[in-house]
Amino acid sequence: MAKIYQIYGQDAHEMTVKLLEASDAIRLVPSGGSVALKPNLVIAGTPESGSTTHAGVLSGCISYFRDHGVEDISVIEGSWVGDETMRAMRRAGYDQVCRKYGVPFYDLKKDQTRPVQTAIGKIDVCCRALDAGLLVDLPVLKGHCQTVMTCALKNLKGCLPDREKRRFHAMGLQKPIAALGAALKPRLIVVDSICGDLDFEEGGTPVQTNRMYLGTDAVQLDAYGLSLMGLMPEEVPYVGLCEQFGGGKASWTEDDLVLLNEPSEAAPYPRRSGTVVSLTRNVHENQACSACFASLVRALYTTRLGQKEDIYIGQGWKGQKLDGLGIGKCCRGAETCVMGCPPTAEKVAQALQEIR
Ligand code: SF4
Repeated sequence: MAKIYQIYGQDAHEMTVKLLEASDAIRLVPSGGSVALKPNLVIAGTPESGSTTHAGVLSGCISYFRDHGVEDISVIEGSWVGDETMRAMRRAGYDQVCRKYGVPFYDLKKDQTRPVQTAIGKIDVCCRALDAGLLVDLPVLKGHCQTVMTCALKNLKGCLPDREKRRFHAMGLQKPIAALGAALKPRLIVVDSICGDLDFEEGGTPVQTNRMYLGTDAVQLDAYGLSLMGLMPEEVPYVGLCEQFGGGKASWTEDDLVLLNEPSEAAPYPRRSGTVVSLTRNVHENQACSACFASLVRALYTTRLGQKEDIYIGQGWKGQKLDGLGIGKCCRGAETCVMGCPPTAEKVAQALQEIR
C-alpha cells in the first residue's frame, strides 16, 4: 500500500519541503523531465479564506525540485467558469512566487487541448497537463456544495478547458471526475489541509487544521480525506468510481501513515467563525491542537446533531476525570473517549451518533 506522509504546522513552504524530502519525491521526475505544479485556484480567493492552495506550497515545491536539479518547472491552472485565472493567481500571491523564482505561470483556459480516451469516452484535456514529465497535484482538502468533498481527484478538473468543465456538470460530475482521475493518474499529490472550508469550495468559512499530507495515489488520498472530514464513502461516489476505473486504491490503514511530527506541535486553533462558535457551544476546550479541534468541528458539522452532551478536548485535560465525551487521548479520563491523537472526524462522528 502506498504511504501517506503527514505533517502539522502553519508554514506551507517549510511543510511542503519536508514532505517532499521525506518521500524522496525527486525519484518520480523522469530524467531530464519537466515538472508542472497544479494548485487549486478555483476562484480569486485568498488561501486564508479556505478556497485556494497556499502560495508557500508552490514555493516549497519549486525550491525542492530546483535544489534537486530540475530546470523546467511551471505552474498551470484554469479557474472555474466565470472567473479569470490571472486575477485568481494574483489574489493568492502566486505572482510574487513566480517572479521570485523565475517560474512561468500558464493559464490553462488559453491552452491547447487533446482528446484523451477515458472509461466514459473521450475528454478534452489541456496539453500542458498531458505533456508534463511530472504533474504535481496540489489540491486543498475542503467541502463542495455539489460533490460534498473536493481534493486530489476533483482538483484535476482545472486541467480542462471551460467547455469541458461545463460538460462535466451536465454529466453529473461524479463519473467524469472519476474518469479524468483514472486517465491522468497523477503520481505526486501534496494536499493543503491547513484551513480548507467545510462546505464551500469558494471558501468563506475556513476551518484551521494546520495539516498537510503527501502521497502517490489520488484515490487513496481522497479516501483518507473523506475520513478526515468525517464523511462516508457513499457521500462522495467519485472516489470509489475512480478506483473501479483503475485510478488507484481507496483503502488505507494507520500503518500507511508516516507522521513527520506530532499534532501538538501545530499552532492552537486560531480563528473561529460564527458557524464554529455555534457548533461548539457545549465544548470545553483546553489547549486543544488544531487538528484535534478540526476533527471535532467537522464531525459536529457533518452529523448535524444538536449537541447536548458536554464534550472535552485538549491537552489541558490530561490526567483529569471528565463527566462527558472526551476527544483524543488527552481526554482518556472522560466517561467515554474517542481515542487517537488526533482522532479522525469519522471516529468522532461515530461516537457522537452513539451517544444520541
Ligand atoms: S489528543 Fe491531545 S495531543 Fe493529540 S491532537 Fe488531541 S489535543 Fe493534541
